[in-house]
Amino acid sequence: MSKQTALYVISGPSGVGKGTVCKALLADLGEGPNRSLTLSISATTRPMRPGEVDGVNYHFLSQEEFLRRVGNGEFLEYATVYGNYYGTLRSAVQDELTAGRNVLLEIDTDGARQIKKLMPEAELIFLAPPSPEELLRRLQGRNTDSAAEIARRQQCLEAELAQQVYYDYVVVNDVVEDTVAQIRQIMAKGL
Ligand code: 5GP
Repeated sequence: MSKQTALYVISGPSGVGKGTVCKALLADLGEGPNRSLTLSISATTRPMRPGEVDGVNYHFLSQEEFLRRVGNGEFLEYATVYGNYYGTLRSAVQDELTAGRNVLLEIDTDGARQIKKLMPEAELIFLAPPSPEELLRRLQGRNTDSAAEIARRQQCLEAELAQQVYYDYVVVNDVVEDTVAQIRQIMAKGL
């Protein structure tokens, strides 16, 4: 990674608001050569949700294709999350960093630790919920997952929250605007 560019990793439990925060960050930092930030599009074997687009939300792959790419060394990191494979494509990240753009990864805690090992200069940001009750309310409110899927994600919560000790920063996502402002401050240090 060149010194002019930075790799940021955002993780946090399902429903904490990673998608909303990342979207706002990308909108806010979109101008100027030193302020460019691009979200790396991951690959996954999970089924597409209504409204999702292949190549935009994720590269949706069959398990066979995903494992073929693992064998080819195409992933910077990959992990099994809630029973499906997810991975960051090596080429996508390296091409962006080489082109002078800062890169944002929205990945799980397992993947984040792999990235930190490979690239110690990566900045790891953990998004924490204000409380477990508020997190459940958000998960139920977004209407994207079945009750069984929500229960499964809830079961992982404690273990996921315990992972925040490995992160460079922990930001509690209460009011989105405040969260975005805090993360922008973190990013401004490295730009
Ligand atoms: P979802 O299925 O809700 O889109 O994502 C489920 C989880 O997979 C989230 O915690 C998300 O951060 C994680 N995830 C998404 N892409 C990647 C990736 O490329 N690598 C890893 N390790 N986790 C990912």
